[in-house]
Amino acid sequence: MVPLRVDGERLRNAVETLATFGNDSGGGISRSTFSTADTHARQWLSECCREAGLVVREDGIGNLFIRAEPGDAAAAERLPVWAGSHIDSVPSGGRFDGAAGVLAAVEVLRCLREQRVPLARPVEAVVWSDEEGCYQGLLGSGTLVDGLADDDLDAIVGREGRTLRQALAESGRDPNTAVRAPQKPPVAHAYLELHIEQGPQLEDAGLDVGVVTGIVGLVHGQATFTGRADHAGGTPMDRRRDALRAAAAFVLGLPALPSQVGRPDSVVTCGDLRVAPGADNVVPGQAVCRLDFRDPESQGLSDLRDAVVALAHRCAKEHDTSVELDWAHVADPVFLDADLQELIEASCAQLGYGSMPLPSRAGHDAQKVATVAPTAMVFVPSQGGRSHCPEEYTDPEQLARGADVLATAVAELAGSPKPRDDG
Ligand SMILES: [Zn+2]
Repeated sequence: MVPLRVDGERLRNAVETLATFGNDSGGGISRSTFSTADTHARQWLSECCREAGLVVREDGIGNLFIRAEPGDAAAAERLPVWAGSHIDSVPSGGRFDGAAGVLAAVEVLRCLREQRVPLARPVEAVVWSDEEGCYQGLLGSGTLVDGLADDDLDAIVGREGRTLRQALAESGRDPNTAVRAPQKPPVAHAYLELHIEQGPQLEDAGLDVGVVTGIVGLVHGQATFTGRADHAGGTPMDRRRDALRAAAAFVLGLPALPSQVGRPDSVVTCGDLRVAPGADNVVPGQAVCRLDFRDPESQGLSDLRDAVVALAHRCAKEHDTSVELDWAHVADPVFLDADLQELIEASCAQLGYGSMPLPSRAGHDAQKVATVAPTAMVFVPSQGGRSHCPEEYTDPEQLARGADVLATAVAELAGSPKPRDDG
């Protein structure tokens, strides 16, 4: 394995330039897919790539494939190595979420060409459409993997009220070309996604690179506490059946659950609480807590769910209320490819960078792609663990080190004509 180093200064400039598209007055980035800012960002990126001798192609749903061709025709026919992420942002998000991975992948392609690294197969930087879900979370990677029906074009409605069909048409695309059947694996030789950690573990450990072991599974739920609405003046304190008191006790009990069930990697959140009837002079008759919990393993998710149910019933009983729980399973946990994790660790070792294994608690396109191609992720540190906010920051030198690791691993994968199944 040959350690490769990218042009860190060029990568840093690219991050700064991309951040000029969709920058809002609050210092954040608002660049949703199919917006004007997104169109301009794509035009800039495509132009840079073409100038660097790379071939740019867009599919019907807006995924961009930026390709470094290998030397000979036989190699061009082989499955490509993919590296990528997304350039859309949440409203008032940061400059690094997704952008870091896309720009690192493009920098890797430039570096492979400039350093004349022999390629036995194509290498493509992939920009997935609408990862953040202005229309639908993981829309681009999800369409590639699961397909997209014609009905979906009208059923999927964006945050600003346009249907997916309208958004595609108004951004100059032909909506009919977005419709496709699910893809059968393998669609790529390997997929590597560099991403900011969006958490504090790497910074706390003083390390440059996280080798992602898997992407957590996600369950959404709702706990509805029902008591009795009563007069806030006339009802003595000890005669109340206050649904909000039960809900409050429940929310305060949530943080202890992961360690109680022996799942220190779990997280559980109540991010939304609605009280009815919702008046200052009425004892709350109903309180609805909306929940999100995540764990790297299915067993962990079900253990956590059992603990949440037990806590909810205990709190309901203590406050003379009843509780009903509803669940929506959002995503299964995904384990990333063990051989690719080893390759990333070996690349770190070659380059002399410190790394640690860690799970991803956020969703990524990689979780979709992992079902149709061997997939792994490289995390770089997030300052203060902050993300999805204007303060999101990754040190340019640490980003460059992550890109070096990506370059070294991609070169190793693209250097061999052998399918991965042959070892
Ligand atoms: Zn992201």
